[in-house]
Amino acid sequence: MKLEIQQLLKKYYGYDSLREAQEKTIEKILEGKDTLTIMPTGGGKSICYQLSALMLKGVTIVISPLISLMKEQVDTLNELGINSTYINSSVEKNQVISRIMALKNGEYKILYVAPERLENYDFIQVISDIDIAMIAVDEAHCVSQWGHDFRPSYRRISNMIGCLKHRPIISAFTATATEEVKKDIISLLGLATPDVFINGFDRQNLNLKVLKGINKRDFLKEYLAQNKGLCGIIYTSTRKDAEKVYEFLLKENHKVGVYHGGLSDEKRNQFQEDFIYDNVDIMVATNAFGMGIDKSNVRYVIHYNMPKSIEAYYQEVGRGGRDGGESDCILLFNMQDVQTQRFLIDSREIPETIKKNEYKKLQEMLDYCYTSKCQRKYLLEYFGEVVDYDNCEKCFNCTGSSELTNITIDAYKIFSCILRTNERFGKNIIAGVLKGSKNEKILTQGLGTQSTYGIMSEKTIKDITDIINILVADGYINVTESEFPTLKVSNRGILALKNKEEVYIRAKIKTTKIVKEDSELFDILKKLRFEIAKEERVPSYIIFADTCLKEISSYMPQSKEELLQIKGVGERKYEKYGDRFIAVIKEYIEKNNIDVQSLNLADESDEENFKSETEQGKAEEKKKTHLVSMELYNEGNSLENISKIRSISVNTAEQHIILCYEEGYNIDINKLVQLEYKNQILDAIKDVGDEKLKPIKAMLPEEVTYTSIKAVLAEERRMANGNININPKDLTTYTNDDIII
Ligand code: ADP
Repeated sequence: MKLEIQQLLKKYYGYDSLREAQEKTIEKILEGKDTLTIMPTGGGKSICYQLSALMLKGVTIVISPLISLMKEQVDTLNELGINSTYINSSVEKNQVISRIMALKNGEYKILYVAPERLENYDFIQVISDIDIAMIAVDEAHCVSQWGHDFRPSYRRISNMIGCLKHRPIISAFTATATEEVKKDIISLLGLATPDVFINGFDRQNLNLKVLKGINKRDFLKEYLAQNKGLCGIIYTSTRKDAEKVYEFLLKENHKVGVYHGGLSDEKRNQFQEDFIYDNVDIMVATNAFGMGIDKSNVRYVIHYNMPKSIEAYYQEVGRGGRDGGESDCILLFNMQDVQTQRFLIDSREIPETIKKNEYKKLQEMLDYCYTSKCQRKYLLEYFGEVVDYDNCEKCFNCTGSSELTNITIDAYKIFSCILRTNERFGKNIIAGVLKGSKNEKILTQGLGTQSTYGIMSEKTIKDITDIINILVADGYINVTESEFPTLKVSNRGILALKNKEEVYIRAKIKTTKIVKEDSELFDILKKLRFEIAKEERVPSYIIFADTCLKEISSYMPQSKEELLQIKGVGERKYEKYGDRFIAVIKEYIEKNNIDVQSLNLADESDEENFKSETEQGKAEEKKKTHLVSMELYNEGNSLENISKIRSISVNTAEQHIILCYEEGYNIDINKLVQLEYKNQILDAIKDVGDEKLKPIKAMLPEEVTYTSIKAVLAEERRMANGNININPKDLTTYTNDDIII
């Protein structure tokens, strides 16, 4: 990677390296070439055009389909220190003018606009005067009718480009890889012999599951109760279902929002904001929600209904785990949903060829749900990747959670009941007959004398309907599309009966709890992040992603250098918030008497021992590191100086000195003490004891430092141990090569 790109990546984003397709895309853009980059959702498309924009002379215009998300994207960039703005219908006219003026004055590197804006002639006139380096077209598949989100205004983009004085570089980004869509993007956006980059579609942190024939509400109830407080999205196919699930979850006391095309803009925006700002944990939504959603801590994406295509599905599940952490992707499959999708396709006014294509996509989605192969492999192959394994050991089909269960006998009983009642009844009546229910409806229809009446009496009605659902999902039973849907045994079911085939289902799994490994410090850091996010009026994850906070909470960085080592902490973020985070970490370390140094030493010795057992002496040598700090201290260096000279945190330097002193080395510990407060510190120790620092600190004037208190405590302990005195000169000599922190 070119040094300059790497430096900018580290400085602004705090990342060490680019993903392969990102690197290639940026390199080609910087060479002045058009590009088409295909990456899965969450794969990192935005960095491609953002980093390029930083390096190009002039403004980059990003065309993005959803105006409601532009503010968030622009906020994120401004947080990173990349000056950006947006113009869309939500911006007042005088604001539009002042943003354009600022753009002309070179105050912004990136401008976000919606494609509809390109139909506005005045706008094109105005921007044609600006030095535009690049047009980045996000969600470029919207230009194609073959894609799953066709937007007619995307067709205006190439006209608009034609009106500009100089043709800028055009970069297009999408997660849709099919040939038709690719071709359309290239021709309709007018890309000039573009380089096409496809990044791996594998998102290892997504745990894929398809659950068939389960009671969806029961599942949600159990799963969400187990994972309360975590953030997730539940997708439904219709507005009606979204409302129903939303109401249900409200009753279950979840913090939940709803989003679909039938709500007013105001309501939709409010719920979206609530979700982004962590005021609600769960968003129940139709596919109208989510394009461009950057919320990074989505821990599960549940599809309450089967989506219309694998592209749509992968895009929606891609919204989980953007921070790199694990995310459950659970599809609750039911044959009825396929009929809903068919109905939705039927009712669209689209050309017959496109309709046919949509049916084909629906069938592919259905095949995915039925496959007993590795689901990850299936999806990756669908996206054109060559996969050299058969078992990913992670998806539902590859893990033990999906063992096959033989339900042949129950299946035959159900088929037989449906056939003997002439396929005239729905699920509830059939289950009632098999149970032997005394329900009036059953008895008055003479079903009580049926030979299958009561043959499953040992089961509950609910168990029986669950099995029927599985058989429907697996295609053994069809459900008619009528006001009162009735059950019919499908060809597959008839064949199974005739040939005495065994019927297996994937066993129901217990809902799983996502393992939370949050430490106390993580929670404290989360609170601080929330506070800062409120002050800055941005969502929490824009300040730092959850994965970044987790890394901070386990490494406990205490200096600028240490904090900048954390993935996701760039310079700008450090400047803005670094001190506050470090202060909280230090307070936590002091409060809990954590010896970060010895923790690090232990880790390294383990690693070192692992590397070479013959080098056993080395671990011993490492312990001398605190003696090195002592030597510097005795030469008159302050803790701050020692920290700089040795590239360790001040806190670590302080721990070294106190440790040496307690071990009996000849050190003037009083240099660390604010002597004017020494007596007060001693009194406070007498009053509240010497076990915890915080209570002692609380008894003293604000200005008394923890360092003073720790030094006085060390002196007390050394006295109590008989005040042994070792002269540092007696130590064996050591060289700088031995120093390992
Ligand atoms: P997309 O637009 O493709 O859906 P984003 O650009 O929003 O995806 O990136 C998804 C997540 O991955 C973001 O949180 C982003 O910060 C992170 N990310 C992107 N590129 C890198 C990288 N090179 N190293 C680490 N994290 C990255």
